[in-house]
Amino acid sequence: MEHLQLAINEIRSRIPRLELRLEEPMKNHCSFRIGGPAAAMALPGSQEETEELCRLLRNMGIRPFIMGNGTNLLVTDGPLRRIVIKMGEKMGGINPRGETGLAAGCGATLARLATVAQGMGLSGLEFAHGIPGTLGGAVVMNAGAYGGEMCNVVKTTTFLDEYLRVSRFAGQEHVFSYRHSAFSDRNCVILSCDLELKRGDPREIRKCMRDLAERRRGSQPLDMPSAGSTFKRPERSYAAALIDQAGLKGYTVGGAQVSEKHAGFVVNRGGASFEEVIRVMEHVRETVYKTAGIMLEPEIRIIT
Ligand SMILES: Cc1cc2nc3c(=O)[nH]c(=O)nc-3n(C[C@H](O)[C@H](O)[C@H](O)COP(=O)(O)OP(=O)(O)OC[C@H]3O[C@@H](n4cnc5c(N)ncnc54)[C@H](O)[C@@H]3O)c2cc1C
Repeated sequence: MEHLQLAINEIRSRIPRLELRLEEPMKNHCSFRIGGPAAAMALPGSQEETEELCRLLRNMGIRPFIMGNGTNLLVTDGPLRRIVIKMGEKMGGINPRGETGLAAGCGATLARLATVAQGMGLSGLEFAHGIPGTLGGAVVMNAGAYGGEMCNVVKTTTFLDEYLRVSRFAGQEHVFSYRHSAFSDRNCVILSCDLELKRGDPREIRKCMRDLAERRRGSQPLDMPSAGSTFKRPERSYAAALIDQAGLKGYTVGGAQVSEKHAGFVVNRGGASFEEVIRVMEHVRETVYKTAGIMLEPEIRIIT
């Protein structure tokens, strides 16, 4: 019997309460609306379940793919012969901690976190309200917008390390940099974080969130599926400006297009395939290199 099928049988018999979906279409879990069926998708509901699952898979020599809300992913349309662990809302509890802190599970969405903080009169997460990912994904990517970044609010992170030990990073140990953290290149599972915020006026916090949402709506193609900014910001420049200057706004391959509204986004105009997005990205990289001498690096994670 195939190794993955054996693992699926083991999960079913050893962790019967775990939500496990077979041949789950990844496009239903990714903001790009692209992605073929994953062999299995597990949706753990607790730290214990996550640990048990990871241990079982490790003992069978299987490395799962960990995802949050799928808003920074481009997934192959072919079958994804992997076990996906989705750290979603079931892992998204949010609780006050001390005067100005929040303790939150990795599956909490940034939108909900920012809304809870606003309701408690806590400032610091306004920038994150419009980022459509989870806390776990945002820590991995050191997500940021409008001058704010996760590194400014994350105090500690609890995670399963490569050896499945429950570990904790505090402050500098996260090694945050632009769209990067100590977790970006490691095989860890983020479980939860403590965030440190500041006292603020709930009305002003709400106003700031609304203003930023307005700016986003005005400049980003939020009505079309995408995975956000396709490329990282190169040093001393902006990917969107370079792509625009190279005349690539609207460049299309099949259903994939460089957004006419914001050149930094590749959008799915309907039915785009994985291959079409890759071809658009390659053309953009080659053309910008020719016109500006800069090789753009993908910000989105490509999963095959
Ligand atoms: C319309 C739109 C606007 C966006 N705007 C912004 C923006 O302003 N700023 C910005 O920074 N980003 C932006 N993004 C990109 C994206 O929302 C962020 O990168 C977000 O942090 C990704 O979170 P996620 O939960 O969706 O992670 P996913 O896309 O599911 O995963 C991203 C990476 O994190 C890993 N990961 C996720 N959860 C965990 C976990 N619990 N443990 C270990 N690894 C994990 C995955 O393996 C993957 O490598 C935007 C995306 C869209 C679609």
